[in-house]
Amino acid sequence: MKIKDQKVYKEYNIKVVILGSGFAGVNVYQYLHKLVHGLGVSFYMISDVNYFQFTPLLHEVASGLLRPEDIISPIRENINCCVGDFILDKVVSIDVDEKIVKLEHSSINFDYLVIATGASTNYRGIEGAKEYSYPLKTVDEAAELKNKVISLFEEREEGSSNREISIIVVGGGPTGIEVATEVSDLTDSLVPLYRSVKKENIKISIFNATENFLNGFPDVLKRSVKHALERGRISLRLDAAVQKVENGTLVLKSGESVHFDLLIWTGGVSPNTPKMNLPGFDITKRITVSQYLNLEGHECIFAIGDVSDIEDNPVPQLAQVAIDESKVCAYNILQSIEKKPLVKYRKNLKGFLLSLGRFNAASEVGSILFLGFPAWILWKFFYLSMMFGKGSKIKIVFDWFFDAFESRDLTKIDRNNK
Ligand SMILES: Cc1cc2nc3c(=O)[nH]c(=O)nc-3n(C[C@H](O)[C@H](O)[C@H](O)COP(=O)(O)OP(=O)(O)OC[C@H]3O[C@@H](n4cnc5c(N)ncnc54)[C@H](O)[C@@H]3O)c2cc1C
Repeated sequence: MKIKDQKVYKEYNIKVVILGSGFAGVNVYQYLHKLVHGLGVSFYMISDVNYFQFTPLLHEVASGLLRPEDIISPIRENINCCVGDFILDKVVSIDVDEKIVKLEHSSINFDYLVIATGASTNYRGIEGAKEYSYPLKTVDEAAELKNKVISLFEEREEGSSNREISIIVVGGGPTGIEVATEVSDLTDSLVPLYRSVKKENIKISIFNATENFLNGFPDVLKRSVKHALERGRISLRLDAAVQKVENGTLVLKSGESVHFDLLIWTGGVSPNTPKMNLPGFDITKRITVSQYLNLEGHECIFAIGDVSDIEDNPVPQLAQVAIDESKVCAYNILQSIEKKPLVKYRKNLKGFLLSLGRFNAASEVGSILFLGFPAWILWKFFYLSMMFGKGSKIKIVFDWFFDAFESRDLTKIDRNNK
């Protein structure tokens, strides 16, 4: 792309502020940086963590297949050119009229703002859910989940009890299915190491609130997922909405109570929407943006990724959407600086990919269905291509290769021990 009028950049010394260091934040920096490099645009990124986290592989950290360090990469390595600053802080609010972002410890003004603060685990206000379950949204949570599974085995060994180990996953979406199959693989690897635990004494179940699991996925893919779960002896309970959670007991809306030793919560996400002085603004909802991905009436403020939704064109909260949106957002910031017409975002999902544990996956790309090992290879390399940093890619490939011939990491490391 040719930039015709370079004067505009030099004159205004444009400041782009990006909130969030996830898929949307890092990609918008990378795309826009390529377009305006050397033109005096300065970038500021603000995030409450100083790394990029590759969420599609979190469940492999939870199962010991990958190490936590494999799926994160230092943010300062990913944004290292034309950067005014990276600020490790939490966004509190945005004054859209004054063009100022208030952080916990300071504030920053902007010419262009990209809100990309993602989403957090949603417990849907269910009593006891946060207290008694294990979420899977961050790398620390994945490591804690793995520790908990290993602790259950250690406890059984100490007490030499043959009692069943019941692991329940709440949420029959892609994350729920992927984590259930990975945890099943983890328990398979642990069983030979513990004399008191038998494979038949481990029960893994997925509870989905409605009849419709894997919402939005093609039926043919759902059928193969069902078969894979049956083969892995993972039960799938549909129409099993949770009413409340007590210590060790899941209470369903039907009144039924189910015992658990470990409850994994993948029951949805809620957006990390910052407070904003906008009419009718609702902090609990995704930020509604125009087809150009900016706020109506505040055209220099963009919101992309999980935190936003598009007016009249709802988009799923997926990494591939966040990446596509970041391309359009970067281009539109450039167009806006140059006072040219903006382009509309067009939804273009590349397909459905779902890992189903060791050497198994299901995917539909275009209208072609891949199952089993070919789908697993496709899944692995598709996501690997989305990871930042050569070092991280090499570490991941090495760990996958190692797992194919050797065991996964079955150690319990308590990171909170000081
Ligand atoms: C377990 C799991 C598996 C997934 N698997 C897939 C998959 O296979 N395929 C797929 O396409 N998608 C998958 N997703 C969804 C995907 O991770 C999200 O759609 C994607 O991360 C969205 O990118 P984002 O940049 O909007 O948000 P995120 O990647 O979540 O980034 C948000 C950033 O904002 C920061 N932040 C949040 N609040 C604040 C604040 N107040 N102040 C400062 N910084 C803040 C966060 O620390 C983070 O850096 C998965 C998600 C999970 C949880």
